[in-house]
Amino acid sequence: MLQLIKQFDAQLAKKIQTDVSLTPYTTFKIGGPAKYFFIAQNNEDLVRAVSYTRKLKIPHYILAGGSNLLISDNGYDGLIILNQANEIIFKDNNRVVADAGAKLFDLVNQTVEHGLTGLEWAAGIPGSVGGAIRGNAGAYRGEMADNIIGVEIMRGSKQFILSKEQCEFDYRDSIFKHNNDLIISGEWQLESGDKLKSQEKIKEILEKRKNNQPLEYPSAGCIFKNIEINSANLDKIDNLKNLPAEYLQYKKIPAAWLIEQTGLKGEKIGDAQISEKHANFIINLGQATAEQVKELIDLVKNQVKQKFDLHLEEEVQYLGF
Ligand SMILES: Cc1cc2nc3c(=O)[nH]c(=O)nc-3n(C[C@H](O)[C@H](O)[C@H](O)COP(=O)(O)OP(=O)(O)OC[C@H]3O[C@@H](n4cnc5c(N)ncnc54)[C@H](O)[C@@H]3O)c2cc1C
Repeated sequence: MLQLIKQFDAQLAKKIQTDVSLTPYTTFKIGGPAKYFFIAQNNEDLVRAVSYTRKLKIPHYILAGGSNLLISDNGYDGLIILNQANEIIFKDNNRVVADAGAKLFDLVNQTVEHGLTGLEWAAGIPGSVGGAIRGNAGAYRGEMADNIIGVEIMRGSKQFILSKEQCEFDYRDSIFKHNNDLIISGEWQLESGDKLKSQEKIKEILEKRKNNQPLEYPSAGCIFKNIEINSANLDKIDNLKNLPAEYLQYKKIPAAWLIEQTGLKGEKIGDAQISEKHANFIINLGQATAEQVKELIDLVKNQVKQKFDLHLEEEVQYLGF
């Protein structure tokens, strides 16, 4: 791979580091080293770096906030491209364009500062705009897809804009989870709002997060997607005892509720623990390894399958496994 890296654009190649620990770049504070590591400070660097890796067929991975990621203890044997391109531009008619590498909370705060409303629900979600678009991040009945009108991407060597429909957004899903597109930026159509009301809403949301989530420990947020109730699993759902009526109403069973029913809340493997505060969070008590987290994930999946015949699907992404 070194020979390929040497064929990189000379300016970029100078900035490539080797054997860089990925632990500090994830909110889990877990993960081995990247063989090669490059920080893209702007979209020009990002696109050039990805173009070269694609042309030279170098294994690579886009890392942004590292808040939805479990990286193996062995790290990644390729090039990590850390996206820190972070421009946010306000346009006419309540539109805003944000680089994929911009922090989601910067986008939320800046739109509110500009008197715009529509993204407050995202307050407190760590990570980047690009990571949030890819996973259609959501909370408090809002999701990334709500106000988005376009996503600029690079597919192969071509750069173009996809409409919202072309992004195929779904619950914690989008076309980008099923292809190799590089997300460069997103554009939103927001509404004129009341800055003070928006700030109040954000404050309430942050308070709720503090009360319900174990924010005092490193984690990757919710490990599993909630279960969507549909015709294929309705008979299994009918068998669930004490299922709160609101879950049926919203057609979703929180993974946290299912995990609680298995009695696994608080379960530990090494320094990895299923949070006592929120059963869909696995927290790192200090020196947890990716292997320990993975063992806990498998344990939860097996128990939920055995007890309820339901399949929990990971929301967290794996790298290097
Ligand atoms: C405390 C806490 C609370 C959380 N709360 C929520 C919540 O309420 N709702 C929610 O949905 N999520 C939540 N999350 C999960 C996480 O913050 C979101 O999924 C976030 O959007 C991930 O963005 P990121 O930049 O950290 O992505 P990363 O973890 O860096 O990457 C995630 C995936 O996206 C890919 N990716 C990143 N950028 C690009 C790009 N430009 N082009 C193509 N692919 C890209 C990566 O390759 C990787 O596969 C929470 C996490 C934590 C730690």
